[in-house]
Order: sequence, then structure tokens, then C-alpha cells
Amino acid sequence: MSEVKFFYGGNVPLEMHKVRIVQKLDLVPIERRLEAIKEAGNNTFLLKNQDIYLDMLTDSGVNAMSDKQLAAMMESDDSYAGSASYTRLENKIKEIFGMEYFLPAHQGRACENIISQAYVKPGTIVPMNYHFTTTKAHITLNGGTVEELIIDEGLKTTSDYPFKGNMDVEKLRALIAKHGPEKIAFVRIETGTNLIGGQPHSLENMREVKKVCDEYGIMLVLDASLLADNLYFIKKREEACKDMSIREITRAIAELSDIIYFSARKLGCARGGGICTNNKDVYMKLRELVTLYEGFLTYGGMSIREIEAIAVGLEETMDENMINQGPQFIAYMCEKLKEHGIPVITPPGGLGCHLNAMEFVDHIPQSQYPAGALASALYLVSGVRGMERGTISEQRNEDGSEHFANTELLRLALPRRVFTLSQVEYAVDRIRWLYENRKLIGGLSFVEEPKVLRFFFGKLEPVSDWQTKLVEKFKADFGDSL
Ligand SMILES: *Cc1c(COP(=O)(O)O)cnc(C)c1O
Repeated sequence: MSEVKFFYGGNVPLEMHKVRIVQKLDLVPIERRLEAIKEAGNNTFLLKNQDIYLDMLTDSGVNAMSDKQLAAMMESDDSYAGSASYTRLENKIKEIFGMEYFLPAHQGRACENIISQAYVKPGTIVPMNYHFTTTKAHITLNGGTVEELIIDEGLKTTSDYPFKGNMDVEKLRALIAKHGPEKIAFVRIETGTNLIGGQPHSLENMREVKKVCDEYGIMLVLDASLLADNLYFIKKREEACKDMSIREITRAIAELSDIIYFSARKLGCARGGGICTNNKDVYMKLRELVTLYEGFLTYGGMSIREIEAIAVGLEETMDENMINQGPQFIAYMCEKLKEHGIPVITPPGGLGCHLNAMEFVDHIPQSQYPAGALASALYLVSGVRGMERGTISEQRNEDGSEHFANTELLRLALPRRVFTLSQVEYAVDRIRWLYENRKLIGGLSFVEEPKVLRFFFGKLEPVSDWQTKLVEKFKADFGDSL
């Protein structure tokens, strides 16, 4: 996706790759989609792939891999200990992040488990720009509390602020002053802040946060799962970084981090994860937990093939023409929707286009899960699977009351290099139709509600017969079309 100018106008993102392996898709009729969403308890996590046309659930483990990644996987050195594949990844991590010690783990949340077990004690606090579902679960499981210190602008759904993922440094100082630095387990920055729409933080903000951490001797932990998108945004939006290479920006971020961990299901377009640090004490402490929970230190629960794919994928992430595909497709989709007055999170971020359900279905109260209802409705009218990122994704308060999310979003992830622009256009078309008919969408209520991470397995039902009515209107408007 380089900056290629179209002579006759039109701002179309242009792919800097070609597709040579394809997977067949089906679009099942709306009658089947109605059955399928019922079977899934109106939870898009529980839909089966055979019933899905465009899977925009997540960008996790479903990004397109390159020919070079697949080739590397064929050459992997499958051994329990001392694998050459592991050494290749370790060296790549050293080269890119400048970190001496690397610990492999099977995915991002495994890193969170290990780091939380090591550093989060009952009564401690973990300040962060914003939480991620699995991060918060691990911290609270270990008796800690999450404090979100995102800048006020970060929670505004529409904005032109370039770095909505920034941490409010004054709030961080106030929090440390209030509780004392010894209560702080570590400070966490999530790059490409997932739950507020894949919004980036700036390099400058990270420098300021690190300065405060250093003043009080607190560790700064970077969740680098969505680093690729954030690197692109820093390069594009941060004046002081416009002449830096992607590699230089990566190094600058790494130098400010005491620990970096990542989900390689996103970063590096493979599957797996890892933790790196320059601090030997940290390494020694975490190492024991890796062998206990993940596996021996030269595979850490990952397939050796994936280890090879991550090493190549990380190198490819240093190419601006690779990491800009996602953000540019997302910007294209968001602009198209905005043209028709459809409420989307702005500025467009990484990982996906986010519909603002609080506005899209403003007649549905938060207690009836507007984002979940919108996810169910969109699947019904399009076969597009999105993900609820709102109140259903939160945990109830300790007293059992509902913890209403700050924002109710339907995330439509665009896995990197996976969809074509005509597929994006199809999604836009169906979302437009749904917006015109939004008053037909009704709320949901739980029929089965697990205690932990309820958004994965919970089942819900519509509060009325709104789905049948929506299907009737669809058929009246679309006739025989799927
Ligand atoms: C996906 C993600 C995780 C968890 O990673 P998994 O590989 O899914 O376990 C953690 N943090 C962020 C920011 C993520 O996007």
C-alpha cells in the first residue's frame, strides 16, 4: 500500500502484494442465518464458520501469511530443546527490539498470566492507558486492580485527535501520589489500544510515562500485540517521527520498555507469543513460570513452525508497505460509512472499523446490550461476523450488578491482507441498509451467563420478535438476493 497516486482521482488503497492461495467462502441464505444466530445464542463467538461469509470477528491468528513465512515453516527445526528455529526467533527479537532475553509463550494471554503471577500481588494496582479483556482478567485473578488512565479524548467516540491511546500523565502522577509507588505492580501501556478502537499512543507520550516510572522506580510493561498498526500511525501522525524508519521507531519504543510482551497472533501474522526484557532479574523470575505453564524455553508452547513464521513475520513488520495495509483499508471503510452518516469511531484506528452502537441503535438501553444486538443484526442481514466490544465484554461488579462499558462498539476487524476491497464494499452496503432500518433492531438478554469472560460463551435471546421482523423487511427489499 504505497502512496500511489491515482491520476483520475479517488483515494483507493492499493495492495503491495498479490493473492496466490485462496479459501472458498459461502454466503448462506438469510433463513439459515436466522437459525444459525439462534443456535449461537446471539453470540457471534459461537457461530460456525460454515455459516459466515466475511469473518470480521478478530484480527487474531487469522492474518494472511506471506510466501516467505510459509517457506520458513517448511524448514523448521523440530526439537524439544535447543531448536535452531528458536534461536532464529531469539536473534530476530534481539535485532528488532534490542532486548537481550526472550521467553516464548503460546499466545498473548499466556504472557499476561506469567507477568501477572510474577508481579501482581493482592492489593496492588496496575495503571494502564486502557485494559484488554484477558489482561484485566489475569490481573484481577492475582488480586490486583486495574486503573485506566487514558486521556479524556480517548473515550470520545468521534475526534480528530491522532493519539487517542495516550496515557494521561498527570493522572498517573496523581495515582502514584495517592497510593504510593510501592502499591504499583507496574505501569502497562497497550500499543494500538484494542478496546477503544485500535487507537495509537505517541512515542512522546510513552517517553513522558517512562519518565514518571523512572522517578519512582516502577517498571513499564508494553503490550506490543498491536504494535504494527501503532508503528504506522506514529510514522504518519507524529511530526517528530516522520523521518524515522519503522525500525528506528520500534527501537525507540523498546528502549522505553522494561518488559515487552506480545501476541504473535497479531504481531507478525502468525500464532504464538513472547516476552522480552533486558533485565536479567526479570528474566530469571519469569523463566520459571514459562517452563511451568508453557513448555521448555526453546518452544514455550508454540509449534516450531509458528516460531519460524513469527521470526519472518516480525522482519516483515518492519516494512511500511506491509503494516499500512490494515490501517488504510480500515480508513477506507470508515470514510465510506461516514459519508452516509453512520456512526463510526474516528479517527480510524488499526485492527478494524468500529461502529458506535450507542448511536447506531440509540433506542436500545445499555442493559439490553446495544453492541451485542447490533452484532447479531448485522450477521443476520449480511453473514458478516463482527464482535461485541461493549457491556457484554465487561465483567459484572462484585455485587452482581452490571458494569456498563464506557463505549458500546461493534468491531469489524479487518484481518491483515485477507479481504478484498469489493468485500469491504459489500459490508458497507449491508451496514448502510441496516442503518436505514435500525429502528427494527431490538435488545438482547442473557439466558446463560458464565462468571468469567462471559462474552466468549454466554448465550442471549432477543427481547422481542425483532429478528423475524428484520428478516421480513430484508426479504421485502432484497427479494431473492442472499
Ligand atoms: C489479543 C491481545 C491480547 C491477548 O493475546 P492472545 O494471543 O489472544 O492471547 C493481549 N493484548 C492485546 C492488546 C491484544 O490485542
